[in-house]
Amino acid sequence: ATILYQDQFIDREQAKVDIEDRGYQFGDGIYEAMMVYSGQIFLLEPHMKRLERSARELSLTLPYSVAHITENIKKLIEINQLKDGVVYFQITRGAAPRQHFFPDHVSSVITGSVSNHTRDLSKRPKGIKASLAEDIRWLRCDIKTLNLLGNVLAKQKAHVEGSGEAILHRGNTVTEGSSSNAFIVKNGQLITHPADHFILNGITRLFVLDLAKQLGIPFVEREFTVDELVNADEVFITGTSNEVNPVLQIEQQVVADGEQGPVTKKLIKAFDAEVERIRTV
Ligand code: PMP
Repeated sequence: ATILYQDQFIDREQAKVDIEDRGYQFGDGIYEAMMVYSGQIFLLEPHMKRLERSARELSLTLPYSVAHITENIKKLIEINQLKDGVVYFQITRGAAPRQHFFPDHVSSVITGSVSNHTRDLSKRPKGIKASLAEDIRWLRCDIKTLNLLGNVLAKQKAHVEGSGEAILHRGNTVTEGSSSNAFIVKNGQLITHPADHFILNGITRLFVLDLAKQLGIPFVEREFTVDELVNADEVFITGTSNEVNPVLQIEQQVVADGEQGPVTKKLIKAFDAEVERIRTV
């Protein structure tokens, strides 16, 4: 496979990471992952806006302009002839003698790669079981950084428990999933955690809120409790590759009647329509 390394397109085997790259040593870097449908990048602009914000919040200088990075990402998709899949890229602060504070002279490093992922509507997620995990992450979860150990540990807990996701809570407050945003529906109203420092403001989250607005589904961004989660009428998670994924069981408790709820179904249908629309652009 061909990967992006700085401004070059090279074989994966030819790429080298410096042992003192700060992404490797400190998780000092940022990333984005975007879906590609029929060769088209889904929700490109908001992903790039978020990348710029992540960089700004970490005083990390992007190695190239956003326009140039976008162009290279598109080239990478073309070179690999990716039809349906994921494009992943990350930017680290770069390589320098190991010290915690920012080095004076360092150049950030971008790498990118693609992977195939065929979207088959007949095999689309029918729903998952979720585990619960205490949210032990730092207080800047709004930045999409490579520092994912808190997320990794939570996902591992879910994995060994046979769950598809870990839903995180700080004390009694549900924040988000380990790699997704969490939504509940109560009495027809959609509820999700506000976009503050406690969650990553998912691009899929924003897109789903937009769909809800268009569909006339009432929604509110507010904190909700673990108790509200397990007693919700509907629960689903959102994320770039998960899209909208119903949660039908939490720990040992079945959510409502264990079936996809009407609001979730409506949102999935609208989401599917948007994906089909960009295929024909
Ligand atoms: N929260 C966390 C912690 C995540 O890692 C992700 C996915 N990267 C999300 C939410 C969902 O974000 P998006 O919809 O932009 O993929």
